[in-house]
Amino acid sequence: MPTYVDPAKCDGCKGGQRTACMYVCPNDLMLLDSTSMKAFNQEPDACWECYSCVKICPQGAISVRPYADFAPLGGVCLPLRGSQQISWTVRFRNGLQKRFSFPIRTTAEDSIEPPAPLAQDASLEDNRLSTEAAPAAGPAQAMQTSAAVSEPDKQRIFRTHSPRREDA
Ligand code: SF4
Ligand code: SF4
Repeated sequence: MPTYVDPAKCDGCKGGQRTACMYVCPNDLMLLDSTSMKAFNQEPDACWECYSCVKICPQGAISVRPYADFAPLGGVCLPLRGSQQISWTVRFRNGLQKRFSFPIRTTAEDSIEPPAPLAQDASLEDNRLSTEAAPAAGPAQAMQTSAAVSEPDKQRIFRTHSPRREDA
């Protein structure tokens, strides 16, 4: 189930040009109806239920179903952001309720520096990590290289993948 905006709670982020949910959605799905001044998900099929808009909405107006691995169908999951932590309330369909709190990032936006030292000639075109100095082997090189396998590993591989002799 994609996001659902409760029109009774949404205030259109008080008439801003770009609402919080529009700003944060990584898939640009949220849109503000300029007549009703209520937000809605313009392409529900493309929503991957990432919870970003649910977490950022200052009115708590957006809901998404909880993931099935922590709350079966019929459950509700409500985040509440504070300045130092985010609190989650999970309500199960049998009425059980659980609460969790986790610390959140408190550094200012755009204040994080990339790890140093970066490779001198770091480029998006090569397959090195940004901190990797020596060029890593490309796929062509890797195909030409035989991996060194230690004797204990050879024994383990043999025992795991070979049919048992007594079964033959
Ligand atoms: S962030 Fe919340 S209050 Fe703001 S427009 Fe979106 S749904 Fe409405
Ligand atoms: S849950 Fe994620 S993908 Fe779906 S509308 Fe909200 S921010 Fe966009």
